[in-house]
Amino acid sequence: MAGFEEVNYYFRRAARIMDLSPRVEKLLITPFREVKVDVSISLDSGELGTFIGYRVQHDRSRGPMKGGLRYHPTLDMDEALGLASLMTWKNAVVNVPYGGAKGGIAVDPSKISERELERLTRRFVEQIHDIIGPQIDIPAPDMGTNAQVMAWIMDAYSKIHGFSPAVVTGKPIDLFGSRGREEATGRGVVYALEEFLKDMGGGEIRGKRCAIQGFGNVGSWAARFLHKAGATVVAVSDQTGGVANPEGLDVPKLVEHAKRANAVAGFPGVDSISNEELLVSEVDVLIPAAVGGVLTRENARHVRARYVVEAANAPTTPEADEILTTRGIPILPDIYANAGGVTVSYFEWTQNIQQFTWEEPKITAELRRYMSEAYATLSRVARERRVPLRTAAFIVAIGRVGRATVLRGL
Ligand code: NAD
Repeated sequence: MAGFEEVNYYFRRAARIMDLSPRVEKLLITPFREVKVDVSISLDSGELGTFIGYRVQHDRSRGPMKGGLRYHPTLDMDEALGLASLMTWKNAVVNVPYGGAKGGIAVDPSKISERELERLTRRFVEQIHDIIGPQIDIPAPDMGTNAQVMAWIMDAYSKIHGFSPAVVTGKPIDLFGSRGREEATGRGVVYALEEFLKDMGGGEIRGKRCAIQGFGNVGSWAARFLHKAGATVVAVSDQTGGVANPEGLDVPKLVEHAKRANAVAGFPGVDSISNEELLVSEVDVLIPAAVGGVLTRENARHVRARYVVEAANAPTTPEADEILTTRGIPILPDIYANAGGVTVSYFEWTQNIQQFTWEEPKITAELRRYMSEAYATLSRVARERRVPLRTAAFIVAIGRVGRATVLRGL
C-alpha cells in the first residue's frame, strides 16, 4: 500500500535538491481538506451495509482539484492522502490546470450487486456533493470504478446542482464522455515507454519482452497497445494469479477470455505464474499496473527487468526504489507514466465545459503531444541535475505548484 509518508519521502528528496524553504515545503505538503463519510446503504437482503467513503483534496493552487475514486477494501485515509498528493504532482508534471485529489470507498465491488453498487455511489455523492463540482473537484475512475459509476455520479450530482456533465470525467461516450478516455491511461503508458526507451538508448518497443501486473483498465489497454506496437507480452496477472508464454501471449484473445471469465487464469495453452514470479521474471520491461507497494525491499533485489514502468500508482516502495536505482534499473515514475488518463480527463472536461466534441485523432494527437513535452522536460532536468527521472519529475512538479502557491500568496 502507498501511504502519505512514502510520497512525501520522494517529495522531500526533491525539495532538498531544490533548496526549498521549510515554509514552502510545509505549505505544499499540507492537504487542503480531508473528508471521511459514512456511506451506509440498505443491502439487497434488507440488512444495513456500513461503508466508509473518503475524499482528500490535497492542493488547489493550479486549478480545480482532480483525481480518481477507488473502490477497494483496503482503502483508508492514509492511502487516500498519499494518492491525492501524487495527483497534485502528476497534474503538474503533465501541466494540466488542476490541483490534486483522490478518494473512494472501502469496499470490494465484486462482493456486492450492481444495484448495491449504484446505491452506494449515489449515497456517496449525497455525502460529498457540496465539496465537489466542475470548478472545485472533479472525480474520475480508478481501481474498482468505471464509466457506469461515473454516470451515476454525474446523475446524482446533477439532481442536486442542475445539469453538470463536467463534475466528473471518464463517463460513457453516450453521456458526455470523451472518445479515447477509457483506453487513455494504457495508451499514455505506451507513449511514455516510447519516449523513455528512446532516451535510454533502449531502441524501439517492437520486440521488447514485457510483463504486466494487473489486467484491468490500465493493464489490459497497455497490453493491447504494446501488442499492436510489436512488443511481446510474455506474462500478465490479476488478483487471482497470472499466465505466461515465453513466445508471447495472444493479447486480443486473452482480453476476450478475461472478459468472459473475469480473470486471466484459465486461458488455454499457457503456463501459470504467480504475481510474485511475474515481478521477478526476466523481461525487458516490467509494468506494475495494479495495486501500490508491490516492489519492495524483499523482491527488488531479484527483479530481472531492464526497465520498470509504473503504470500503477506508487507500486515501488522507497526502499525498492533505492535498490533498483543502485542496481542500474531505470524507473519511469507513476506521476509521469500513468498521466495519460488524467490528460484525456482534462480533454473531456474542456469538451463538457464548451459543449463541443473532439474527434478521436485530435485526442490521441494531443495526448501524444502532452506526453512528449512532459518527457522532454523531465529528461532535461534529470540530466542537468544528475538525478533519476522520479526526482526530476518531483522537481518539475514542485517548481510549478510552488510558484503558483507563492504567487497566489497565503
Ligand atoms: P482496475 O480495477 O480496472 O484493475 C485493477 C487490476 O489489478 C485487476 O486486474 C485486478 O485483478 C488487479 N489486482 C487487484 N489487486 C491485485 C493484487 N493484489 N495483485 C495483483 N493484481 C491485482 O484498476 P485500474 O483502473 O486499471 O487501475 C490500476 C492501477 O492504475 C491503480 O494503481 C490505479 O491507481 C492506476 N491508475 C489508473 C488510472 C485509470 O485511468 N484507471 C489512471 C492512472 C493510474
